[in-house]
Amino acid sequence: MASALYIHIPFCPAKCGYCSFNSYSGLADLYRRYTKALCCEITEVGRGAGEERLQTIFFGGGTPTALPLEMMQQILAVCFSSFSVAAGAEISMEANPGTVDGDMLARLRTSGINRISFGVQSFVDKELKIIGRIHTADEAIGAVQLAGESGFKNISIDLMYGLPGQSGKSWQFSLEKGFSLAIRHLSLYQLTLEEGTPMADRVARGEILLPAEDIVSEMDGLTVQHTATAAFERYEISNYSLQGSQCRHNRIYWKNEDYIGVGAGAVSGRQGRRMRNADNPADYCSLMEKGISPVIWEEKLDREASFRETVIMGLRMTAGISLRSLEKRYGISVEEYYGDILKSLLGDGLLSCRAGRLHLSTRGRMFANRVMAELV
Ligand code: SF4
Repeated sequence: MASALYIHIPFCPAKCGYCSFNSYSGLADLYRRYTKALCCEITEVGRGAGEERLQTIFFGGGTPTALPLEMMQQILAVCFSSFSVAAGAEISMEANPGTVDGDMLARLRTSGINRISFGVQSFVDKELKIIGRIHTADEAIGAVQLAGESGFKNISIDLMYGLPGQSGKSWQFSLEKGFSLAIRHLSLYQLTLEEGTPMADRVARGEILLPAEDIVSEMDGLTVQHTATAAFERYEISNYSLQGSQCRHNRIYWKNEDYIGVGAGAVSGRQGRRMRNADNPADYCSLMEKGISPVIWEEKLDREASFRETVIMGLRMTAGISLRSLEKRYGISVEEYYGDILKSLLGDGLLSCRAGRLHLSTRGRMFANRVMAELV
């Protein structure tokens, strides 16, 4: 049985130009139907969940805070009645700063949400506008402050670099602003331009320009410099936290442990199988209403494939992977399995091995994609 539950809310007030997530704008008419279908799926999955307690619940999207509060409370109540939830479980919600107010945040907090993660992306209005965010920098700062006043102690923000029109100086400004807020967690991502998004089309037409490679390298350097001087520990390639505030839910993914996903497009990984629900929210609702499983895709991972995934995901974490635990879990030795590939990555200084744990080195983090491609 899994100890983590992910709940997908696929709605957004507007679609950001760079977004390739399973999210949709203009579907407010579907909110009530979707909530009902979701509650139904949570109840059904909870029935087969057994005795193990949920240690984490994560509302992601999309924009969970786009859903009216009373529906969110309904979903939460069904989670608590369908699953055994551990005392002190981490219950996270992603939020768009443009969709919250003090009353909503206070009521989310008293309903049981104890961690909130704001998609801020930048503290420069010009950059927010160009990527299609619906909020301003001041609104993002205000949302973080309101969350604190509403009783949230565990607040996270996401920021992105490599945005159109962004300079090293403006990235430094966003970083400094982020660290000046009362947050305990920070996710810092480089923008990846996904094919088929409006932003990718605009870049292809030459309407907007992404920063040149040397500017992105400068931003990388600034990120390392700023995070090293803050009290935040980098515990994963893109994630930083104060002590005791690592995201417990995401750590379950990175350790390749079992998790349950519910909602449109949600993925579950359980007992060596991976399953994905129908992506389209209306299709998802129809399947649930007809009493048909919303799972539209499933694969069984064999032992070696699961082993390789655990290696790759585990290397994302600064703590790396324990060679002994891996061998115990899969009966496979990392040294024997990867042989010369491992020797070469160690020899090139991209991986390092200390006290029985394999890590990405500082240099290895810069070439993480290359390392993962060798080990996949
Ligand atoms: S708020 Fe997030 S999920 Fe929604 S469109 Fe923007 S990036 Fe995508």
